[in-house]
Amino acid sequence: MIYIGNHLSSSKGYLAMGKAATKLGGDTFAFFTRNPRGGKAKDIDPADAAALMTYLKEHNFGRIVAHAPYTMNLCSDKADIREFALNMLKDDLKRMEYTPGQYYNFHPGSHVGQGVETGVGMIARALDEAMFDEMTTTVLLETMAGKGSEIGGAFEELRMIIDAVSDSTREHLGVCLDTCHIWDGGYDIVESLDAVLDEFDRVIGLDRLKAIHINDTLNPLAAHKDRHAKIGEGHIGNEAFEKIVTNPRVQGLPFILETPNDDEGYAREIALIRSWMK
Ligand code: FE
Ligand code: FE
Ligand code: ZN
Repeated sequence: MIYIGNHLSSSKGYLAMGKAATKLGGDTFAFFTRNPRGGKAKDIDPADAAALMTYLKEHNFGRIVAHAPYTMNLCSDKADIREFALNMLKDDLKRMEYTPGQYYNFHPGSHVGQGVETGVGMIARALDEAMFDEMTTTVLLETMAGKGSEIGGAFEELRMIIDAVSDSTREHLGVCLDTCHIWDGGYDIVESLDAVLDEFDRVIGLDRLKAIHINDTLNPLAAHKDRHAKIGEGHIGNEAFEKIVTNPRVQGLPFILETPNDDEGYAREIALIRSWMK
């Protein structure tokens, strides 16, 4: 089996997110650690966070997948933007310890013309600085569509980051695979799902695969665009998604919907995906 859920608003707090997930049929969820555009995060109520942890256990949830703000660019060409990003990352990772043992995923960043190698070095140094030995969170690098100068459009670029960090950082590092992004990045999960998973295993290692963002896409293979579609309403389609969620190599992972939906739409997509599960 897999765990399935969608991206939720965190405005009513932690326990409220758990309950909202259940209401939609989910047994995992994602949320932004702060305004997706970045900036100051709300204070955490430790009792509320603890209540969520109890709730997750009692309702047999899979791990939840917090999402960093989109604007967090650890490899900007501007020092002040890098520093802003690093401070957000440090703060987020401290906050994540109120919900121990969960996932925190982020977009590796855009190197804005400095080149992949320079960008990778900046990302790795920031991770080394922000991550700490006692942390219980696993930090997930997200596979990207390769839009503009985005790092992470090829599995090799995520491998470069994993190779460039310190040994102790690497222990807390995984990957979140976004179906829309890798399709847009040129990985044909419709015609050759197994070959793509083989490639992931060869380059990164399937043991690093910790979560899936399950999104359909508005654009054709290798478009390098990144525009999400509802499940079954894009170029990936229901038939391919059924094969993805039932693939033995992704069982046990949390699958997160980031599709353009309201609550009703998410509930429908979760039910559809459950109807495919074995
Ligand atoms: Fe993302
Ligand atoms: Fe995503
Ligand atoms: Zn996306």
